[in-house]
Amino acid sequence: MAAVIEGNTGTWEMVIGLEVHAQVISEAKLFSGAATAFGAEPNSQVSLVDAAMPGMLPVINEACVAQAVRTGLGLNAQINKLSVFDRKNYFYADLPQGYQISQLYHPIVGEGTIVLDLEDGRTREVGIERLHLEQDAAKSIHDQDPRRTFIDLNRTGVGLMEIVSKPDLRSPEEVGAYLRKLRSIVRYLGTCDGNMEEGSMRCDVNVSVRKVGDNEFGTRCEVKNVNSIRAVQQAIEYEAARQVELLEDGGKVIQETRLWDPGKGITRSMRGKEEAHDYRYFPDPDLLPLELDDDWVEAIKQTLPELPDAKKARFMADYGLSEYDARVLVAERARADFYEDVAKGRDAKLSANWVITELFGALNKSGKDIGDSPVTAAQLGGLVDLIADDTISGRIAKDVFADMLETGRDADAIVEAKGLKQVTDTGAIAAVIDQVLAEQADKVAEYRSGKDKLFGFFVGQTMKKSGGKANPAAVNEILKQKLDG
Ligand code: ADP
Ligand code: MG
Repeated sequence: MAAVIEGNTGTWEMVIGLEVHAQVISEAKLFSGAATAFGAEPNSQVSLVDAAMPGMLPVINEACVAQAVRTGLGLNAQINKLSVFDRKNYFYADLPQGYQISQLYHPIVGEGTIVLDLEDGRTREVGIERLHLEQDAAKSIHDQDPRRTFIDLNRTGVGLMEIVSKPDLRSPEEVGAYLRKLRSIVRYLGTCDGNMEEGSMRCDVNVSVRKVGDNEFGTRCEVKNVNSIRAVQQAIEYEAARQVELLEDGGKVIQETRLWDPGKGITRSMRGKEEAHDYRYFPDPDLLPLELDDDWVEAIKQTLPELPDAKKARFMADYGLSEYDARVLVAERARADFYEDVAKGRDAKLSANWVITELFGALNKSGKDIGDSPVTAAQLGGLVDLIADDTISGRIAKDVFADMLETGRDADAIVEAKGLKQVTDTGAIAAVIDQVLAEQADKVAEYRSGKDKLFGFFVGQTMKKSGGKANPAAVNEILKQKLDG
């Protein structure tokens, strides 16, 4: 993924801003009592308000407001004590009311920040412009009938948080980091499940280009229908390259809404850019302005969990972990908790290695979440204990771990049953070494005539002969005595 584009007339950079729609986790919808559970029978979770029956009135759901405030606090953002719901008027089959209730002029949350963790270990702060509350629309189903589109009103009126970034992002990589971090934060907070495949987190991406060194932004296009981090990144690469080519050919970028076509890998024009006045925004006369109490906001603040950035800093300071290890562990709260359970009272780095390299590696391979781990934190801790007290070597531990993954048995039971206890009896090790040296008389001669590198070979042979069970430190020591002493 390129951060800049080399054109015929110079080097161009991308300027990107994201509008993320995050479905609020709540029992009921934003303005009605209908349920919000995903995957229910179509049109089974629709109140008269959602269906826009005449005379029905919206009633604000306090739980959704609390979730928006909670998210704002998690983004270190300004919480606006006064916000106002506006009607955004347009016609579409997925919108029975003929307008969406949203917040344009006075959003519930103002400016905030989010810290990106970039691949090379650097971090970068990106600005949040605002977060506002609005209603989700119904879901159009196009793939069940060749000619007709069906409408499922279950999603109508579900609370959405639209989280708008500043145009601070400069590459597809940064956009990936932004989406991952935002998803991680809302999941920690429990305000959105962040599931892009199920559509509970969706985004529109605004892209423009300018020559490196220019101060002014170029004209942007907004790209819709990007349903995964990968699609967002591909769409940005394509769209930025398209704009550069257009500009270098003497053309102009027209501000418009474009659609990402994942099959063809291109964006195409969908409609001209609409302005706020096109939607005839006005304050919804059915809803009072929303006023928040300081105490109420403060009470929410008191319930915030430790968030990824703070947890990462703590893992580095308290456990002495590298930035990379800490980052991998805190990406998901369940992973961080699992690690802390393993590390409690044990060697923190050894524990981190086993959790990240061995356990996460195995889970990735089998496509499992940490929640489905066949090995519990207590069990992995038991294995770490056996390594730490020299009952088994790190090498044997890998075999034991493979057995644990498969059978779910405890490490000490496996070591016992398979007779894998490390041999620390120096007499027994010396006997094996004597055998090895006798069998490898040629190599011993070579070694003694100066071929130092062969030392590792003797270690390897001894370990092999002992079935991997000889204590490596003892092997080294006794070999040294016998060869050099
Ligand atoms: P609208 O509601 O008309 O789409 P917003 O002001 O809400 O406009 O901005 C939408 C997004 O566009 C924001 O994320 C913002 O950062 C981004 N943006 C604004 N100007 C540019 C630009 N020149 N290039 C790229 N992104 C931009
Ligand atoms: Mg927009």
